[in-house]
Amino acid sequence: MPELPEVETTRLGIAPYVEGREIVEVRVRNRRLRVPVPEDFEQRLIGARVGCVTRRAKYLRLPLASSEGEGTLLWHLGMSGSLRIARVGDLPKKHDYVDLVTGEGFVLRYHDPRRFGFVDWQQGDGTEDTRLAHLGPEPLSEAFDGAWLYRLSLGKRMAVKPFLMDNRVVVGAGNIYAAEALFLAGIDPRRAAGRISKARFDRLALAVKDVLAAAITQGGTTLRDFVSGQGEPGYFAQKLNVYGRQGEPCRRCGQPLKRIVLGQRASVFCPGCQR
Ligand code: ZN
Repeated sequence: MPELPEVETTRLGIAPYVEGREIVEVRVRNRRLRVPVPEDFEQRLIGARVGCVTRRAKYLRLPLASSEGEGTLLWHLGMSGSLRIARVGDLPKKHDYVDLVTGEGFVLRYHDPRRFGFVDWQQGDGTEDTRLAHLGPEPLSEAFDGAWLYRLSLGKRMAVKPFLMDNRVVVGAGNIYAAEALFLAGIDPRRAAGRISKARFDRLALAVKDVLAAAITQGGTTLRDFVSGQGEPGYFAQKLNVYGRQGEPCRRCGQPLKRIVLGQRASVFCPGCQR
């Protein structure tokens, strides 16, 4: 599943080919995405110019300006979606469902085998969208820190891992990144959120920022893959300390890593280093 670093890398990858460009053609090969592609999608987009592409959580926003007014495309990659840049004339592959063609001959092409993603058009700048209304802070912003985590955790009995993975607490701490950040901060994923000190939350917030920033940096090395034909989108090959390593020795203390299920998600941690 594309996580926040993959979505941020997508934003960086597509921006140079769409920002400031006019959409001259729209091809929708399958409207049945998680949210059906709006009926008037093609009509609204043709002739519109794309503004600065932004990201909020795992949503990409593409502002559009045309003689008809201002609107925004809200794009979510779902479980298996990806956006790539093709050239006019590059034939679509299976599951390539939406193409936006620019005047320069580039195609923003959406691929989504499982069709859990969507692209939706809305009036205005898209910030009012209810899908974005209850999201917590961006992990790499100043609004997200140990004090924020500590304040939200007070009185909470739930385990810290599902607490951290709650989008209202912070966005982008998916299963991999939450597991890795808890390891770096030395916190047992089962520990009740409300029983963690401010100092330990300070370390945890920094660890979340570190693992996500490292993944985004890693993603930056794949940016050339955004133009047609080169490589499939995938996860960034990061050196993981705990995720997917159950039974293997902890890189810090050598003890075998343990796997448990927390909030219906597999969680791997080191019983020696995480308390
Ligand atoms: Zn250890």
